[in-house]
Amino acid sequence: MKILALLHTQDDGALPKAALEVVTAAAGLAAQAGGTFAVAVLGAGATAAADAVAACGASAFYAVEGDAVAQPRYATDTAAAAALMQAAGAEVVLAPGTSRFARCLPGAAYRTGAQVDTHVAAVSVEAGAVQAQRWFYRQRILGAFSRAARPWVLLVDSGVYAPWSGAAGAAQAQPVAVAFGAEDSRTAAQGLQAPAADAQTIRPDAPILLVAGAGWTKKQKDGQYHIGEAGALIQGFLQKAQASLGSSKSLVDLKSDGQETLNFMSHMNQVGQTGSTPRHPKGLSTCCHGEEPHAVGWRFINERRAINLDANCGWAQGKADVVYVGDAFEIMAKVNALLG
Ligand SMILES: Cc1cc2nc3c(=O)[nH]c(=O)nc-3n(C[C@H](O)[C@H](O)[C@H](O)COP(=O)(O)OP(=O)(O)OC[C@H]3O[C@@H](n4cnc5c(N)ncnc54)[C@H](O)[C@@H]3O)c2cc1C
Repeated sequence: MKILALLHTQDDGALPKAALEVVTAAAGLAAQAGGTFAVAVLGAGATAAADAVAACGASAFYAVEGDAVAQPRYATDTAAAAALMQAAGAEVVLAPGTSRFARCLPGAAYRTGAQVDTHVAAVSVEAGAVQAQRWFYRQRILGAFSRAARPWVLLVDSGVYAPWSGAAGAAQAQPVAVAFGAEDSRTAAQGLQAPAADAQTIRPDAPILLVAGAGWTKKQKDGQYHIGEAGALIQGFLQKAQASLGSSKSLVDLKSDGQETLNFMSHMNQVGQTGSTPRHPKGLSTCCHGEEPHAVGWRFINERRAINLDANCGWAQGKADVVYVGDAFEIMAKVNALLG
């Protein structure tokens, strides 16, 4: 079985964490199958990036670099990925489920006659056949499946495997020539617009997720709203703990209802059935009831804690490991003070 870890570099030429996780997945799959695997890298600095994982145990390395693939672009990335898969004679292709690859690998699969699956949460060899797992129905059902089609491209979700780490070396990656057409480069990125680092509240790799619920915007025990104070407490914690910020649906819906609310949150922060399913080692829910459509988004949060005034809130019904029954304004002020 010819297994290929298909990777791309990021702007600085390094491999993203999700790519290193795929190296671990490919090495594990090859070990289970009793075979070898190859590594292929595309993007700026691809050859040097292959050197960075030279000791991963791959039997061969391939690279496509140069101006054409220096920036992510559907046409050139698709052509490069297809060329790398063909050069490696790949049968099972594991690739990181990054935005760059999620965009181009379905096209590369089509061109190489491959089948492609996304959001893969595990790969293994069962009774001699490669088997993949992914979640269905909003992470409620875990399905295991295999396909007879080869090549088979699997986009692996990040956060599932430990990133590979080891010494750099000389991978001697074989450069793969790609016949790019003139029209392949007609789309070009003019630049990057990103919010300031401190305005970026969604941090997928953060060790902790802080979820803010609608309670922060409700009248408190003095009969008054304390939205400014709520914002300062939440942002203070995010900054001190370098946490990622999630939200309940009720809180972010307030904005569309025109009510005064926390202006640094949007529907992008919403966790749950109609929101996201982030992966973090720990999560702290504050002023959020923990209803099922919200709590289902906590599927991949390993350790869950909640702060709520209500000892009968949803979190206390078996959805959290620890529930602090108390006032989140007081508790978070204390937590922030302890964090220094
Ligand atoms: C089809 C469908 C899909 C949905 N999808 C989602 C989804 O993706 N994500 C989602 O979040 N919801 C979703 N919902 C909505 C969900 O059912 C809840 O309505 C929502 O999660 C409630 O938000 P909340 O807990 O922040 O607000 P509330 O229910 O208003 O709870 C506020 C909580 O704050 C507590 N509180 C108030 N003040 C304090 C204080 N000082 N200290 C501590 N605690 C305090 C209160 O005790 C209360 O428990 C969906 C609903 C449906 C029908």
